[in-house]
Amino acid sequence: MIESLYIDGNWTAPDARATLKVLNPATGETVREIGYGAEKDAVKAVEAAHRAFPAWSAKTVYERASLIHRISIMIRENAESLARILTQEIGKPLSEARGEIFAGADQFEWYAEEVKRSAGDVIPNRLTDKRHMTIRHPVGPVAAISPWNFPILLAARKIAPALAAGCTVISRPASQASLTLLEVFKLIDSIGFPPGVANFVAGNPNQCSDVFVNDPRIKKISFTGSLDVGGELYVECAKRMKKISLELGGHSPFIVMPDIDPDEAAEKAVFAKFRNMGQVCISASRFFVPNSIKKQFEEKAAELASKLRVGNGLDPDTDVGPLFTRSRVKETLRFVEDIKSKGGRILCGGRQPEGEKYAGGNFFMPTVATDMSCDMLIMKEEPFCPILPIIGYNSIDEALTMANDTQYGLAAYVLTRRLDWAVTAAERIEAGIIGINDCSPAAAQCPFGGMKSSGIGREGWSIGLEGYYETKYVSICI
Ligand code: NAD
Repeated sequence: MIESLYIDGNWTAPDARATLKVLNPATGETVREIGYGAEKDAVKAVEAAHRAFPAWSAKTVYERASLIHRISIMIRENAESLARILTQEIGKPLSEARGEIFAGADQFEWYAEEVKRSAGDVIPNRLTDKRHMTIRHPVGPVAAISPWNFPILLAARKIAPALAAGCTVISRPASQASLTLLEVFKLIDSIGFPPGVANFVAGNPNQCSDVFVNDPRIKKISFTGSLDVGGELYVECAKRMKKISLELGGHSPFIVMPDIDPDEAAEKAVFAKFRNMGQVCISASRFFVPNSIKKQFEEKAAELASKLRVGNGLDPDTDVGPLFTRSRVKETLRFVEDIKSKGGRILCGGRQPEGEKYAGGNFFMPTVATDMSCDMLIMKEEPFCPILPIIGYNSIDEALTMANDTQYGLAAYVLTRRLDWAVTAAERIEAGIIGINDCSPAAAQCPFGGMKSSGIGREGWSIGLEGYYETKYVSICI
């Protein structure tokens, strides 16, 4: 299908007629060939979003909210077919794909409701003849750039609040993960949004971003992705005084406190690590365990990880799917070799599975590694892979110090039933999201985002609307 860009309310072919094959990471086969846009297509989308902005922003929040709410309903009604496409393009098991589709619907539902409560203020005066107030003004057309690992949820975290606030949007997904979002835009098309309000351009990342950064009609870029690309965009936006919000990488500590049963901790650790094969920005990726229970913890973690069934996400027996690309497999092997060369031990996995079933895909065995040291690559670089690395500690102070020893500050996990340890950890850990005995804390109605190099700004909750508003102060002499 070449008519796969959605611009100004029309399905259109890319100007250059270029196409892209979206590959299934479980088989290596082409799922579908789509139109692949470039600079001229991005410009057309900017023109459409710019034209549509005055009328869209002038609608009442109730009018906007009712259309946005319809998106959540349509996504839920079509959840099963969307989830199947998502599994085919990303590889995650169908159950995880369903979870993501519903989480994406939650974003539209939440912002359709929350925008009705995003009021300005009336500020008390010093002078009797003045009245002060603030009103909220949408920033304007927004370019929303999202990554591949949660292509629906992460795009929805931008599109929903932007539309609710009165902005028009151009959504640009990661190229190899654009199919499911394309299907969501078909639903959006069927709802009857005014042309140009919501646009979808799958296409060349550099060329599209150049247009978004350089065209003054785009008033804000909302980016989720890696620190490297986000950093480059940040610099370019700074030169042009263009607003940008950044949701970047993470390297989340997972601290098992000494009061927790090691078997229970291992069960939670395996869940926290292997969702989407560790390819989650808030994936737990450094496991700090008291030396007194480390042996029991690592044995149980290895036992549980080696029982996970690796396979095609469409197979109902599959617990964990493939990695997204071949390069992720290579990266994972690089981490394994580095761990071995620096004295770490691989307790299970550490290699690709063998057999016909795995021949075409990017599969890797869930891996548990122990006796880690802080100089190993996997303890420093964002891993995005299925390795659960364990490091022992002797005091809680030592664990918290190691947990904070990273440039990232997106999420952190702490297992404890002791209130004092929970509070100390929540106060000392440098991360935007902290799960205490909770390994899946993300929710549409809660803030999401990172400290330190993990980002600028927050999505989710009412704070997620803030990035799409200017606050205008109005002072009236009466
Ligand atoms: P990426 O930075 O390579 O790509 C992100 C997006 O930017 C994609 O749409 C991609 O096509 C585009 N892009 C790539 N190169 C570009 C360039 N030179 N100019 C402009 N755009 C460009 O990231 P990824 O590999 O798709 O995703 C994984 C990264 O995203 C990880 O670092 C992960 O932690 C992060 N992430 C963060 C969050 C969060 O909410 N904080 C959520 C998910 C993923």
